[in-house]
Amino acid sequence: MKQRQLYVETFGCQMNDYDSEIMVCLMEDKNYVQTQNINQADLILLNTCSIREKAEQKVYSYLGRLRGLKEKNPDLLIGITGCVAQQQGKKLLNDLPYLDLVVGTHGIYRLPQLVEEINKKGHQICWTNFDYKLNNATHPGPNQIIVKANLAIMQGCDNFCTYCVVPYVRGREISRPVPDILEEAGGLLANGVKEITLLGQNVNSYGRGLEPKITFTGLIKKIADLPPALSRLRFVTSHPKDLSVELIRAFDEVKPLCEHVHLPVQSGSTRILKAMHRKYTREEYLSKVAELRDVCPDIALTTDVIVGFPGETQADFDQTMDLLDRVNFDGIFSFKYSDRPMTQAMKLRNKIPEEVKSARLTELQALQKNISLKKNQALVGQELEVLVEGPSKRIAGQLTGRTRTNKIVNFACETVSRGSLVNVLIEAASANTLRGTVRHE
Ligand code: SF4
Repeated sequence: MKQRQLYVETFGCQMNDYDSEIMVCLMEDKNYVQTQNINQADLILLNTCSIREKAEQKVYSYLGRLRGLKEKNPDLLIGITGCVAQQQGKKLLNDLPYLDLVVGTHGIYRLPQLVEEINKKGHQICWTNFDYKLNNATHPGPNQIIVKANLAIMQGCDNFCTYCVVPYVRGREISRPVPDILEEAGGLLANGVKEITLLGQNVNSYGRGLEPKITFTGLIKKIADLPPALSRLRFVTSHPKDLSVELIRAFDEVKPLCEHVHLPVQSGSTRILKAMHRKYTREEYLSKVAELRDVCPDIALTTDVIVGFPGETQADFDQTMDLLDRVNFDGIFSFKYSDRPMTQAMKLRNKIPEEVKSARLTELQALQKNISLKKNQALVGQELEVLVEGPSKRIAGQLTGRTRTNKIVNFACETVSRGSLVNVLIEAASANTLRGTVRHE
């Protein structure tokens, strides 16, 4: 039977990358093969993100461009999955008649049967039920040798930060059972994966409701003990309120655990943190950072910051700038606040004008660029372990990889292969990348 072509476009976070991998694996079992050429596709899936207004707008503008493809090829199926699908549901099918399929965040394991149903019956389908049995099916695993893999250990979130749509579109927090995670991790290791990133909206609250009881650190230790030995283990995203002493100590005790934490602070003002319902103060955040650096002095720290949350005064913003200065983050992801449907913050009245938000974002990013540059320049002359990921996309003839602290390193070398761990002498630094020469192969 002729194989059909599947094109997947992923928007947003690593969790969406992971869900897209699962969808590709599921459809490959149904005689689909992934293509990078959208014009050849029989099925196009957009796996979407609605965490910020800008991310959602990108999806709609992309969808608009697909209309022409459907007009040229009426047999083409177009589906939308992920957070925008969950949020908008049937409305998408009504607004965009050329769409065939809407699948919410809990429905990806139903994808093959939903596609089959459309092929048989020829009508649009929307599936947005929350299925709290959780998608326990173990990730089928990569078909080709890959160096790094994502592994979801939980889904959903119970925190209800006032600006965030995630608990409404991904549902309540559920931890996957330990045996399922270990089976999936074991499969990845057997496949030659060198680095695993554990995924969840709030990974360090992992274990709630599971029997026998287990903490996130307990899970990390079990994965680190699996044969064959894992080179690198990471996790994202963690919540400062759930950063336990046990987890902080793990950075010293668990060898594969990389020296990097992404710890979203969101604001440096306790008043704004309270309005965001973040459940920690500025002082508590700073004290966790100090504990982390006590245990692991070279740990790299990255964070998320929202500027212009409703009611943010200049004094609140100054506190955020001051926190950046104090913590000396290696990098930040920074965003202007935008109203998200269903959230509490959307109902707040004291919204910050767009031009003030933009000016604050520019100021914040300029400060961080300087900090990141200085931190990277301090690495010049050091020899760092790099996991080789493949040819650099930006610099022809160079390879690229990451340090254990998650910094990108570009280097020239013809003799090392993807998946190797090499020592690279750092010779130059910018705010975002390092450049160097391989010392030992
Ligand atoms: S912790 Fe807060 S910001 Fe993160 S996913 Fe949950 S509700 Fe959203």
